[in-house]
Amino acid sequence: MSQQTNKQESTEMLNGNGRIPTHALVIGSSIAGLTAAKALASHLDRVTIIDRDESACAETFRRGVPQARHAHTLMPQGQEVLEQHFPGIMAELVSSGAVSVDVEKEVAFFHDGAWRTPQPKDRPPSLSCSRPLLENAIYRRVTALPNVALLRGYRATGLVTDNSARWVTGVQLRSGRGAAGQEWVEPAHLVVDASGRQSQAPDWLAALKLMPPEEWRINAFVGYATRIYQQPAHLAEAWKRLYVRPTPPDETRGGILLPEENGRWVVTLVGIAGDYPPTDEAGFLAFARSLPTPRFYEAIKDATPLTEPFGFRRTENRVRLYDKLPRYLEGFLVTGDAVFALNPVYAQGMTAALIGSHVLDKSLKRFADKLAVGEVTGLAAAFQKELRQALDGLWTMSTHKDWHWPMTEVTDNAETLTPGGR
Ligand SMILES: Cc1cc2nc3c(=O)[nH]c(=O)nc-3n(C[C@H](O)[C@H](O)[C@H](O)COP(=O)(O)OP(=O)(O)OC[C@H]3O[C@@H](n4cnc5c(N)ncnc54)[C@H](O)[C@@H]3O)c2cc1C
Repeated sequence: MSQQTNKQESTEMLNGNGRIPTHALVIGSSIAGLTAAKALASHLDRVTIIDRDESACAETFRRGVPQARHAHTLMPQGQEVLEQHFPGIMAELVSSGAVSVDVEKEVAFFHDGAWRTPQPKDRPPSLSCSRPLLENAIYRRVTALPNVALLRGYRATGLVTDNSARWVTGVQLRSGRGAAGQEWVEPAHLVVDASGRQSQAPDWLAALKLMPPEEWRINAFVGYATRIYQQPAHLAEAWKRLYVRPTPPDETRGGILLPEENGRWVVTLVGIAGDYPPTDEAGFLAFARSLPTPRFYEAIKDATPLTEPFGFRRTENRVRLYDKLPRYLEGFLVTGDAVFALNPVYAQGMTAALIGSHVLDKSLKRFADKLAVGEVTGLAAAFQKELRQALDGLWTMSTHKDWHWPMTEVTDNAETLTPGGR
């Protein structure tokens, strides 16, 4: 790994024009990366977001976020933080076609052998829309900021540091493929890794001879299969959303049906403990018919499918303990799924990413005096510790049921994080 800038050069770069030209680089332009960029843009002069995906964030699916094809629900806390970050965004989503759902009256929720009312009561309406519609609304607002630039088609391949490997000074980037590809270093004073589950940050730290974070995994072997349907013109049902949640230890099958913009339904089948839903037409319908209530199959059997079923199986809970590093690479922060990747059945990942950006904003405020003189020492440790505290509750919520599936695999040390264990 190249170590191109020393601390003195980096300080000169910072103080060059009397104003601190602090540049932050964010790896990943999904929910965590975009919202982290928004937080950074309020405190620093310039923010560059890079993404390996070449396609612009359009209202279609992009390769870099394959999970976007599957049902995504933004939980109430996530909605609240999103609106704080971007005032007016919920109304904008509704005017773009997102469906407002009364959680007490318009959600049919089947779990443990009975229909239940989602708790707690008095929740605000929940918005239902496709993941691209949501991501696009955020994308438009962040890329409209005058000090934010987005570079597409650039893959981060490593970190660049000063000679002592104490401060991050940039990111090694690669564009294009094979021999035609180009590599160079993009200098930055702060680097935020928001590259999701596939984050390579532990390898990058190890390549710099820094200790990578310890990692805990709880894997309930969850699989998704999802298909988009045109909603029937006449539906004699009061619900807008339908959930059938699997019940451990024996009932491994469930489903999620959400309304989206343009009168569509996103229909996701869920199988736990390795009971993965098939992605062929007949298998998809047979799995739906096998759910513990016939209502799910009844809803979709005459609806018009608009896509093939798509599968997804990379769903384990995984936390990387960046809050416990013995030594930090100063100026290098990690957020979103790259730190807390959660079992999607409990729908907490986007909320965790949004909370991460809120924590980042608070950390940057606390470090404002230091940043004003170009000093980032201590920021990474403070941020990672606060992030862990802020997200421990979501981790417990997303993992504690998973302990009850007989085939769940747990890394040796993960139990300490879950009060009571199995
Ligand atoms: C099947 C499934 C269903 C889900 N359902 C829900 C739900 O209902 N509710 C909910 O809140 N959450 C849900 N989630 C979780 C949610 O998708 C994520 O938590 C959310 O997208 C935030 O992730 P992120 O921004 O950290 O990473 P991602 O969304 O994974 O984005 C990572 C970005 O980094 C880019 N990237 C990766 N590597 C590099 C690199 N080396 N260089 C440059 N760019 C790079 C990628 O192209 C991508 O744009 C679900 C997840 C899955 C798998």
